[in-house]
Amino acid sequence: MALKDLRDLIYPASCLLCRTSGVTLCPSCEATLSSCTESYRVQGRTLYSSLHYNEAASHLILAAKEDNDRAAARYLAELMAMRFSRVHRNFHRSSYLLVPIPSSRAADKRRGYEHMMILAGLVAKRIVTEYEVDCQLLNLLTPIRKVADQSQLTARARQVNIDGAFQLRKGLERRAGKGVGIILIDDLVTTGSTMSEGLRALRMGSIEPDALLSACVAGRFLVNKIGL
Ligand SMILES: [Zn+2]
Repeated sequence: MALKDLRDLIYPASCLLCRTSGVTLCPSCEATLSSCTESYRVQGRTLYSSLHYNEAASHLILAAKEDNDRAAARYLAELMAMRFSRVHRNFHRSSYLLVPIPSSRAADKRRGYEHMMILAGLVAKRIVTEYEVDCQLLNLLTPIRKVADQSQLTARARQVNIDGAFQLRKGLERRAGKGVGIILIDDLVTTGSTMSEGLRALRMGSIEPDALLSACVAGRFLVNKIGL
């Protein structure tokens, strides 16, 4: 059992945003989250996101990412598994593989854990429970060079910064065989440049994902909204 899970058992749950006790997210904080029902096109694939980016969503993402807050990660994973229903409705696979967008090696080292592996693992578990399909995590993408922190860069600079940054982890691509639905997964999509790089790396190995899934989307940067 992870230390965080143990802590959750010892200390009763409190609201992830305002710390009101007894709930994971209190009704008034939950009301500040903005559900995303639109989808977006990124390099010919559909991106499904659970939330629009706002202050409340940003708090949840940062708690999961930087503080390894498992309650926040579980909450986001639940929302993402719900959003996955649109993917499953379109593809009806019996088996899916979730491929996380990797963080930089420096970020993983600083945090001491691979944040997207944890989040995607929780999403996979929820999908198995909710949809009675096989769903596993596949750590297929790996960074091959240093990238600057994307958050302070313009859209164009982000693209240049991330272009060619990922490659397929050797020996794993054969697991992404015929009939298995590949879902590229990230916590936050802003300009779509990191998702695009993930797609490019997969396509270099002739792997075409069914869809892209994220916890949160800063949709104002993505012009290619495709409706409800
Ligand atoms: Zn609250």
